[in-house]
Amino acid sequence: MTATTSLLDARSATLERAADRDHAQWLQHIGTAAGCTQPVRLTGRLHTINPDTGDILATRTTATMPDGVLYVPCGNRRADVCPSCAELYRADTYHLIKAGLLGGKGTPETVASHPAVFATFTAPSFGPVHTRAVEKKSGRIKPCRIRRAMTLCPHGKPTWCSQRHHENASCLGKPLCPECYDYPAHAVWNAFASELWRRTTITLRRLVARLGKHHGATLDVSYGKVAEYQHRGIVHFHAIIRLDRRDPTDPDAILPPPPNITSADLDQFILDAARATAYRTPPHPGTDDIPARPDGWLITWGQQLVNRPLTRVGGIDITEEMVAGYVAKYATKSTETTGHLSRRLTSETIGRYADYQTHTGTLIATCWDLGANPHDPGTPDDDRAYWYPPGTTDEAIARQQWQHTYGKLRRWAHMLGFGGHFTTKSGRYGPTRKTIRRVYQRSQQILRNGGHRTAEHLDEDTTLIVGDLTYAGIGWLTLGDAELAATSAAKAREYAATRKLERHAA
Ligand SMILES: [Zn+2]
Ligand SMILES: [Zn+2]
Ligand SMILES: [Zn+2]
Repeated sequence: MTATTSLLDARSATLERAADRDHAQWLQHIGTAAGCTQPVRLTGRLHTINPDTGDILATRTTATMPDGVLYVPCGNRRADVCPSCAELYRADTYHLIKAGLLGGKGTPETVASHPAVFATFTAPSFGPVHTRAVEKKSGRIKPCRIRRAMTLCPHGKPTWCSQRHHENASCLGKPLCPECYDYPAHAVWNAFASELWRRTTITLRRLVARLGKHHGATLDVSYGKVAEYQHRGIVHFHAIIRLDRRDPTDPDAILPPPPNITSADLDQFILDAARATAYRTPPHPGTDDIPARPDGWLITWGQQLVNRPLTRVGGIDITEEMVAGYVAKYATKSTETTGHLSRRLTSETIGRYADYQTHTGTLIATCWDLGANPHDPGTPDDDRAYWYPPGTTDEAIARQQWQHTYGKLRRWAHMLGFGGHFTTKSGRYGPTRKTIRRVYQRSQQILRNGGHRTAEHLDEDTTLIVGDLTYAGIGWLTLGDAELAATSAAKAREYAATRKLERHAA
């Protein structure tokens, strides 16, 4: 089929669908998936269950539905993959972070009085890169990298850069000398950043618990955090960390800490915990180009930790809302800032991205090479020196342990080594994404029904719908359907925006 005929087909499919008398029914059927660019199609049966007795009250099959399938939004977090689902994700993250700061959606409102800190955890330097900084007072752009001694590095490259870079300059985040830059340490840092975070929270909890003993209270921290890529291709974390008091007899209770403990105290503990925590990775045998690391790599935070205690003087909550918005904004991004975007790489596709020429290409290649499992069949025996993890010479165990450590670098090469979650929270920080989503879906459904709660909607509270569904495919059936769905979603957004304006005006 040529492009022209498929386009014509799409046109006629649109016309056909528009002329179809079930047009409205189809649009209602696609429901929450309308805005999605690549919805998941499911076939099978849906049972309505009485939650008390477990009896099946009714069964519907997708065979009787328009197109014979159920459309479910893809749920992708990344704005470049599905703008609509990414927007939902952003909104969820916003409400999740906000509820942890101000309460609501099942979290007590008293959390608004707890000491809280907004902290950014960054990686150390792996070599000088081009940067752009603005002078606070004058708003002027600072020169990139001033050095008193204008010396060259061992590779004959200048160690300074006196330019004032534009915001979109392509050199930003790129090393002054790629050969001086420590790519292996950078890649390994990304791969183990989540482990460093985990250990840091353990240290922080220990410090806070010790403080609690002085005050005769059980103290703990809760957090919500998001990961973000810097220009140089390293992740850093933005976290909202809140101090809580626990009730030893009721583990789910979230209580205010003693009033004489402040956000400044919590801030100091966070800095202490970040400075005191380090993680040493297992030994690595090296590659053809990368020397062996019998002691692994030491993973620590960078010098520049940014902490901002959140104060609630005068009960003005604008700060928290702003912080929640700021944090949520990062949740829909990935490696875009580094100029790289791809799906998981395989030995067939790696060649397209790993080049040892560009900064991200070198990072991807480094991840791929460092992640190669030496216990895979076919690895020469000579390369197996100090391969075995302590306590075993079992090939299968060694192979598995590798997969849990350096193996991540290969699995997540397309993410420059970072395989962690983009949004995480501790158990008691606030509501779960599921709780928020239910609230959100409910409001969307009411909106679609013209703002009225319908009988079907009321049923949701008393019955349970259980699906017995299988995957039938991804995406809309025709370009025409995609167009119709997108138009309908745009209308729904417009309608929602108008309603919001009306509510504000009222
Ligand atoms: Zn989607
Ligand atoms: Zn520069
Ligand atoms: Zn150099």
